[in-house]
Formats: sequence, C-alpha cells, structure tokens
Amino acid sequence: MAAPLDLLDLDTLLNDEERDIRAVVRRVADDKVRPHVAGWYEDGEVPVRELALEFGKLGLLGMHLTGYGCAGASAVSYGLACLELEAADSGVRSLVSVQGSLAMYAIWKYGSEEQKQRWLPGMAAGELIGCFGLTEPDHGSDPANMSTRARRDGADWVLDGGKMWITNAPLADVAVIWARGEEGVFGFAVPTDTPGFSAREIKNKMSLRASSTGEITLDGVRLPESARLPEARGLKAPLSCLTEARFGIIWGSMGAARDCLRVAIDYATTREQFGRPIGGFQLTQAKLADMSLELQKGYLLALHLGRLRDSAGALRPEQVSVGKLNNVREAIAIARTCRTILGGNGISGEYPVMRHANNLESVLTYEGTSEIHQLVIGQKLTGLNAFA
Ligand SMILES: Cc1cc2nc3c(=O)[nH]c(=O)nc-3n(C[C@H](O)[C@H](O)[C@H](O)COP(=O)(O)OP(=O)(O)OC[C@H]3O[C@@H](n4cnc5c(N)ncnc54)[C@H](O)[C@@H]3O)c2cc1C
Repeated sequence: MAAPLDLLDLDTLLNDEERDIRAVVRRVADDKVRPHVAGWYEDGEVPVRELALEFGKLGLLGMHLTGYGCAGASAVSYGLACLELEAADSGVRSLVSVQGSLAMYAIWKYGSEEQKQRWLPGMAAGELIGCFGLTEPDHGSDPANMSTRARRDGADWVLDGGKMWITNAPLADVAVIWARGEEGVFGFAVPTDTPGFSAREIKNKMSLRASSTGEITLDGVRLPESARLPEARGLKAPLSCLTEARFGIIWGSMGAARDCLRVAIDYATTREQFGRPIGGFQLTQAKLADMSLELQKGYLLALHLGRLRDSAGALRPEQVSVGKLNNVREAIAIARTCRTILGGNGISGEYPVMRHANNLESVLTYEGTSEIHQLVIGQKLTGLNAFA
C-alpha cells in the first residue's frame, strides 16, 4: 500500500524484511512485467520460461517452502510477493502460485526424497516448469468424482483420462496428476515427455490471457512406482495443495484491486467534464471512498491470515475460504467500479483496469468458486453439508 491509498498507515504493520521483499518484487514487476503485459494479454502469449527464470533468481518460486533451493520465507512475505505480482497481472501471479503452491508444494509435501531431489531445485530456479492437474472436463467443483484412472500393471502404473484448465500444462516439464485407483485417489509426478502424455493450449480465453492454460490427455501413460507421490493418500492431499494456493490469491486479488484504484484515482483527478475533474464530483468520491474501505479491509484480512499462518503453521480450510471469498469478490467489484470511472477509456487496453477485471473472473472461479467457499463457510457455521 502506498499514499494516497494507505489511509490507515498499514505499512507500520510490516517489518523491515517484509518491506524489503515487497520492494524487490514490486521492482521486478515494474521492470519485467508491466511494460509488456498489455501486449502479452492482447496476443494471448506470455514468455513463461523467461519469467520463471527471472522469478527463480529472486527466490519467488516455492518461496514459502524450505530446503531444495527454496527461500523459506514467511507466509506474509509470500503474500506480499503475490500482491505485487498480481498488481501487474493475475496471470503472472498464477504462474508463481501454480509453480510454488500447487506443483512444488505437492512434491515437497507428499513426494519421496528422490522426487524432491529430482524436481524441486530446478523448479525453484525456474529451470523446470510444473503444473497441477486436478480439474477434468466433467469434474471441476466435484473432484471426488474424477474419471482419470490409475491402474496397476505389474510393477508399473498406467494413467488414462484427461485434465482441463491446467495452468502451465502446455509447457510443463512435470505434471502433478491426480487419478483414482482401486484404493482411492493417488498423485503422480509425471515427466511430460512420457509417451501417452499430451497437452494442448486452450485458445480463445477472454480472461487470464497472459497465462498459459492447457488441456491434458493421458492415454496409457505408463509410470514406475517411483513416480507416485508416496505420502499422498486420498483427496485430502490435492485439497491441501489448493488451500496453499488459495492463500496466495487472498493477497494477490488485493494487488489487482490496488492497481485499479490507483489508476482510477489518477484518472479521476486529471479527467475533466463539466469544467472540472470528475474526481471532484461527489458520486465519484463516494465510489473511491467505498473502494478504499474494501481494499484496506481486504488487505487487513490477508495480513491477519498471514500472521495466523506464520504463528500457527497452517490455516484451517474455512479460514482460507473466508479470505478467498471476500477478497476476490471485493477485488472484482473494485475493478468493475474503477472501470466505470474511466468511462470509455475503461474498456481500452491502454489502461490495466479491464484486463484486471477480466482476469479476476478466472480468479473468482479457480481454486474453488465463490459458491464452493460459501458452502465451506456455511457448513462450518451450521454443521450441515449443503454440497450435494
Ligand atoms: C484460467 C484457469 C486456470 C485454471 N488452472 C487450473 C489448474 O492449474 N489446475 C486445476 O486442476 N484446475 C485449474 N482450473 C480449474 C478450476 O479450478 C475450475 O474451473 C473450478 O474448480 C470450477 O470447476 P468448473 O469450471 O468445472 O465449474 P463447475 O464445477 O461446473 O461449476 C459451475 C458453476 O456451478 C457452481 N456449483 C458447482 N457445484 C455446486 C454446488 N454444490 N452448489 C452450488 N453451486 C455449485 C459453481 O460454483 C459454478 O458457479 C483453472 C480454471 C481456469 C478458468
């Protein structure tokens, strides 16, 4: 947060190390992402490998993990990094989240020592790209009913099925794939050059265009037992990875919102209609004031959850649901309201606001839709399961 948005002196809640990390990430976002991202978005192409190497150099990949080349940063520092990256673009933050909190975390938490040694140092450096395949064409919010199958064949496993909407899949070196076997859900670290594995880029996205998203086909993918994540038992394992990644979204969404509000204030104080700046009209000021409240409340919520996680070691799923539901919902509302302040210019790619608003549509849906988070919270409040 910076003037004029930091009305509550929220910066005083951070320590020097956190402020330093934030400054470094803000600088890399300003230098390596902002000047190009509108073009990447328009073209629907993003240099994932170049960015991953850049982020790897700074220790942003698997930043909150320890060992294997990972930075071992606090949850709050990781959150601040997500916020600064998403202030540039949600797709770029997604690259870092999927790499660190989904693919690397799954291997770090559930993998064998051999799998960790094989994949994590290269992934932390950005030399290897990972993806995380849980969603399927016919099973999104309800992954328990997944169709992808893992069957034993002698000493091997054979995977058959497909995964949909998988970030980074088209260029990944390793795919963490979740599949149902006889004894429940298993996870596998699949080298993407294994015969029978293929991934195609999903085109025509209207959101998160500066991010690579793919559909994976698994056609008799034969793997040794050493590719199975030995500590992953049941659906709890992939769901715990999602809890990890959602934490980054709670922060990141506030970055997108902050960027929109920054641009809207700048626009409102320079754009004149009826002979004066539109920011001088009470209706515009009411919008700006209300948005700044939600931005600061959302930031405080993210910071509270980060501090809780740093002290308790983990967050409960419903705590993460409170953060994701609130902050993404408020971020998208802020982006849409800022869009109105920019009038016709609000729909132009010359300004980042519509790009953020469109990106947040994906952020609202992935890692659990708003409705699913409402159900998680509702279940906690009532003790009643309303999922099915
Ligand atoms: C750009 C992008 C990137 C993604 N990256 C990844 C990735 O890297 N890895 C991965 O595994 N997945 C990824 N996803 C998939 C994402 O997690 C799913 O899209 C999401 O979980 C929703 O699943 P679905 O699209 O099948 O929607 P559905 O589950 O079909 O839901 C459709 C609607 O029905 C509602 N709904 C469903 N069930 C209920 C219920 N019980 N009660 C009330 N409402 C309900 C939902 O809330 C939603 O509004 C990505 C998605 C996008 C868009």
